[in-house]
Amino acid sequence: MSMQAVLRGQLLATARAMSAARLNVGTSGNASVRLAGGGFLVTPSGMAAEVCGDDDLVEITAAGEARGSRAPSSEWLLHRDIFAAFPAAGAVLHAHPPFATALACQRRDIPPFHYMIARFGGSTVRCSSYATFGTQALSDAAIAALQERCACLLGNHGMVVWGRDLDHALALAVELETLCEQYWRTCQLGAPVLLSEEEMADVVERFRWYGRPRAPGSEG
Ligand code: 13P
Ligand code: ZN
Repeated sequence: MSMQAVLRGQLLATARAMSAARLNVGTSGNASVRLAGGGFLVTPSGMAAEVCGDDDLVEITAAGEARGSRAPSSEWLLHRDIFAAFPAAGAVLHAHPPFATALACQRRDIPPFHYMIARFGGSTVRCSSYATFGTQALSDAAIAALQERCACLLGNHGMVVWGRDLDHALALAVELETLCEQYWRTCQLGAPVLLSEEEMADVVERFRWYGRPRAPGSEG
C-alpha cells in the first residue's frame, strides 16, 4: 500500500473520530494531513465524514492545485497557510464544537484559568477576528491568532488546531474543547483566579518535554 493510501485511511478515520467525539456535527469542520512532496490531503467540501470514502478525499499539490473527484474543503486556504506557516505541523483540524464555539461567539481569548492552556504554546488561546468562512481573510485572521500557538478560536465560528500528526492534532482538539467546557463552567461560579505569566511560562517549558520518551537531563 502506498504512503498516500495509508494517509487517506488515517485522515478519514480522524474525520470520523471528530464526529464521534462530537467535535463536529454533519458537514461542519474539516481535516488535513501533510504529504511528503509539499502538498496535503484534505476532506471534501460539504460531505459528512460518515458518508465520505477514501476516494472522496482531495489532494492539494505543492502548487496549490486540487486533484480529486470532489471539491476540496472550502477552508483549504486555511489548511494550506497553516502548513506553510508552521513547518512542524503534520495535520490540521477545524471544528465547531459546542463550548469552543460558544466562547468564539463571545469573541473571547481563553485566559490562563488552568495550567493546561499552556499545552497550546502560551498563556492564552486567542480568538481571531471574524471573517467569512472559506476566505483568505479568515486564513489571515487565524494565522495572526496562531502566532506561537498550535490552536486558536475562530471568531463567531469555531476552532482550529495543528499537531505533529493526525493523532496528536485530534488529542489537542479534544483537549481544547474540554478546556473550553471547564472555562465555561468556572465562569458560571464567578470570575476564575488566573495563573500569572511566570506560572504559565514554567508550564510551557515543561510541556516542551511532556509525553516525550526522555526528559532533558535523564539520558545516561
Ligand atoms: P467544508 O464542508 O467546505 O469543509 O466546510 C465546513 C466548514 O466548517 C467551513 O468553515
Ligand atoms: Zn467551519
